[in-house]
Amino acid sequence: MSVVLLGASGQVGHELRKALAIHADVQAPSRSELDLADIDQVRTYLSHYHPQWVINAAAYTAVDKAETETELAFRLNAGLPECLAKYCAERDILLTHYSSDYVYPGDGEQSRKEDSPTGPLSYYGKSKLAGDEAVQASGCASQIFRTSWVYSARGNNFMKTMLRLGRERESLSVVDDQVGSPTPARLIADMTVWAWQRYLDDQELTGFFHLAPRGEVSWYGFALEIFRLAREANIPLAIDEAALAPLATSEYPTAATRPSNSRLCLSLIEKTFGVKMPHWKDQLALTLTDYLK
Ligand code: NDP
Repeated sequence: MSVVLLGASGQVGHELRKALAIHADVQAPSRSELDLADIDQVRTYLSHYHPQWVINAAAYTAVDKAETETELAFRLNAGLPECLAKYCAERDILLTHYSSDYVYPGDGEQSRKEDSPTGPLSYYGKSKLAGDEAVQASGCASQIFRTSWVYSARGNNFMKTMLRLGRERESLSVVDDQVGSPTPARLIADMTVWAWQRYLDDQELTGFFHLAPRGEVSWYGFALEIFRLAREANIPLAIDEAALAPLATSEYPTAATRPSNSRLCLSLIEKTFGVKMPHWKDQLALTLTDYLK
């Protein structure tokens, strides 16, 4: 099985590369080998390698910068998946792609289903939604995983930022009115491989799927648990529990508006692929152990 994996240096891409190693012959071009903002280059690359499966873990993920670098965000998050989807549709091969909780408006307190109305609040969210729609419109066989709050042992993410700030600072305030489920890149990679294996047996298993751990937490609650586990693992911290304060989103203005409710309903992925998603707390403990190695 030959696979083209785009975005292999990113959080999800890195874990995918490891998870795929025993399953497939993986071509994973770096940015210097293939600029994904250049769609003509992407087409030429695909025609050269003619993969049997395309995985797109690349994206423009700088949520705040996307408010001003809008054209580039759309090229990566909408133009690229559109090009990949057309390629896959013409050759009848599977495209695996990743989407975001930011395609939803994030109001209310209910968890959203895959067919809940979208309504992105930011240009990043709009560009991701445009990518989802382009993949769907192409008619290609696709598995699109909408995930949330991605972190991992490597890359830039909330867990690593908190560990750094917790060592440097004696007090810290963290947003407490945005709720979701932090998703380790490794869980996304493992689920991707499992879903692809199931697809090989049953080609009906395509569409949009929410992919996140069970449970829910605010960024503040997530930070509390990160510091609790860090203390348990004897990581030296300058901050103590009482010095971590909850903050309202309105007190922490950012260029892009974030959804306050990122809860994703997991029934479809669990039912379709016969899995029970793990709890975010267990996944955090595993990812922190990974990081400490
Ligand atoms: P990262 O930001 O960690 O990785 C993005 C990847 O895209 C990197 O490999 C990066 O390469 C590559 N890339 C971006 N622009 C270019 C370019 N012009 N040419 C070549 N490569 C490029 O992303 P994640 O792993 O966190 O995200 C994976 C998927 O999950 C994305 O679809 C994202 O939208 C989605 N998602 C992410 C969330 C998050 O919290 N991070 C939340 C919800 C969904 P380089 O290393 O060279 O920059």
